[in-house]
Amino acid sequence: MDKGRLIVFSGPSGVGKDTILKKLIESDDTVKLSISATTRPKREYEEEGKDYYFLSEDEFLKKVSENKMLEYAKYCSNYYGTPIEPIERWTNEGVDVILEIEVEGGQKVISQQKGVLSIFVMPPSFAVLKRRLEERKTDSEDIVLGRLNRAKEEISTAYKYDYIVVNDDIDNCVDDIKAIIKADKLKYKNMKNFIDGVMAND
Ligand code: 5GP
Repeated sequence: MDKGRLIVFSGPSGVGKDTILKKLIESDDTVKLSISATTRPKREYEEEGKDYYFLSEDEFLKKVSENKMLEYAKYCSNYYGTPIEPIERWTNEGVDVILEIEVEGGQKVISQQKGVLSIFVMPPSFAVLKRRLEERKTDSEDIVLGRLNRAKEEISTAYKYDYIVVNDDIDNCVDDIKAIIKADKLKYKNMKNFIDGVMAND
């Protein structure tokens, strides 16, 4: 059996990554979503162990020092990281795993792991992104401003990703991502074991 792939999914804050991935996971049971750890305060609607593992800075840095994170990065004054254990278990079972992570962590995974598929989601315009962030009402004005500044930096690294999708219409965007995941699976590098199997049983 082939190992599952790692799919790095990035895009600026407010672009709708969570909603896109929720829809994707609902309609595709061949991929799983990695649950990150973070030191950011929990938002009212979020659940421990479902949206994030919420840790203190000491707890987070202890996990890093014990090599329990595949990658981690600081984003707008908080740490975010990908716990390694579920990723290894799922990919060894042949399951594809999506990492919804910011660009710095994304680049670490892309450069350190083999065969990563990377997708960057863009807003239709910067004005739409600004409006979505301002309307979200979960963050203070300062935080929104910090996230908008970071968004500009993040968008400037989009060229480092394999594919760009635009979240103009959510259903179209999800369809585009499904098409990308499927097409990537049929690339020669991902079909090599199958071809070898056919050749070995002629
Ligand atoms: P938020 O606070 O809005 O949930 O997330 C802020 C940013 O952190 C988003 O760009 C999100 O993709 C990113 N992020 C979430 N989990 C991780 C992670 O495990 N590692 C890294 N590097 N970034 C993450």
